[in-house]
Amino acid sequence: MKNDYEPVIGLEVHIQLKTNTKAFCSCTTEFGTSPNMNTCPVCLGHPGALPTLNKNVVEFAIKMGLATGCKIRPYSIFSRKNYFYPDLPKGYQISQYEDPICFEGVIEVDLPEGKKHIGITRIHMEEDAGKSIHDVDIDTLVDLNRSGVPLLEIVSEPDIRSAQEAYQYLMQIRQIVMYLGVCDGNLEEGSLRCDANISVRKKGAEKFGTRTEVKNLNSFRNVERAIGYEIERQVALLESGGTVIQQTMLWDASVHETKPMRTKEKAHDYRYFPEPDLVGVSVSKEWISRVHQTLPELPLARKQRFINELGLPKYDAGILVDEQSLGDYFELAVSHLSVKNNESYKLVSNWVMTEVLRILSERKITAAEFELPANFIAEIVDLLASESISSKIAKEIFPEVLANKVSPKEIVGKRGLAQISDSNMIETLVKSILDQNSENVDKYRAGKTNLFGFFVSQVLKQTEGKANPKIVTEVLKRELQN
Ligand code: ADP
Ligand code: MG
Ligand code: ZN
Repeated sequence: MKNDYEPVIGLEVHIQLKTNTKAFCSCTTEFGTSPNMNTCPVCLGHPGALPTLNKNVVEFAIKMGLATGCKIRPYSIFSRKNYFYPDLPKGYQISQYEDPICFEGVIEVDLPEGKKHIGITRIHMEEDAGKSIHDVDIDTLVDLNRSGVPLLEIVSEPDIRSAQEAYQYLMQIRQIVMYLGVCDGNLEEGSLRCDANISVRKKGAEKFGTRTEVKNLNSFRNVERAIGYEIERQVALLESGGTVIQQTMLWDASVHETKPMRTKEKAHDYRYFPEPDLVGVSVSKEWISRVHQTLPELPLARKQRFINELGLPKYDAGILVDEQSLGDYFELAVSHLSVKNNESYKLVSNWVMTEVLRILSERKITAAEFELPANFIAEIVDLLASESISSKIAKEIFPEVLANKVSPKEIVGKRGLAQISDSNMIETLVKSILDQNSENVDKYRAGKTNLFGFFVSQVLKQTEGKANPKIVTEVLKRELQN
């Protein structure tokens, strides 16, 4: 039944901009200060207080627009979107309506089945509302610290076809805004929020079905769950002869269901009109090209480069580019390698993805805050790649490298940890071990081949783990066959 239908999804994503001050006043945007401390007559909505646009809001909008291939409008205006809400003291939100600053862009997402382009209808600037707090005391309290914090609203085309795709799209937006430095990407603090528009249509049908809009999605996982739920609900409804009504729903995370909130508001309900207290926003070609020059390599392009140029598996590349400073750390380590080839790049990747990431997550820091010089990772990999040390020794010395910031090469030199790769020496040792264990040698030759590990461990024991395991295995095989 469900297989006869195709979901159609469009997302409206709000990202909170990482400016120091609010969109239309000089109050700080700092999160977590005592309620209502970051306020002034402008963001409290006092009559007669006049807004002044923060230039960085426009700069960030242009940045995001360029990063998503949007056209940038040379001149756009702000509008008032009127509605009543306890956390909206002015009775309207300053937003953009007809002519948003950015339009007609695209975001590329990397799906298991390949790359897909999701169209961006528009990106506009607006201000956030305050926050109603329901869980203190018996009253509802209002905190206006967030009132006037700048947002970008990114509206997608109805190009998304599954809950999983929606999730990937959001992850991609999060990576992009963090790479651009326009948003801190902090999901717990609500720095990225999303409303989902969902409809279903019979497969092969041209016309879209009637959509519902789900709000209150406070995590990306909830977006995915809510979309999944809503698809099932709409299909079941249609199959039982019902019709979907266009309405706004709320996701109830405690019971994993969407619930109707109100019939869908229409644009005219908001009585949009041009904001009379602000002048229009002019963006010159020079400004655009200046911002263009500051754009970093974007995460997906970087991922592709790691795959194409460094031969990394897709999985590794995805993890390394997810957070910008981790990718930077990896690249810095790679740049310090003595031997540059795909094998050593993969070894660096292994070390960053296991040892480095483990420490970062234990300490809850990013690679930018990690004090271990990346060239020490390169040294370890050089030692491994040249078979100067075994991976066992590498793991053993790492805590000391980390604790004392000593060069791995120095530790290996001082403590005589270099791997023994001299096959004559290993052969002599192997022969003497086989002599000492003639009973086991007989058993081995009689078919008890799982004794092989025993011989290997004897060699490693006598060399304190320094014998090159590859050579040990070769020599042992040869000698045991004789
Ligand atoms: P509104 O003004 O009500 O928010 P928009 O036309 O701006 O409506 O669209 C909002 C979002 O809904 C966009 O992301 C768009 O892609 C999506 N959308 C529009 N029509 C449909 C549909 N039939 N099914 C699913 N999503 C849709
Ligand atoms: Mg909308
Ligand atoms: Zn203020």
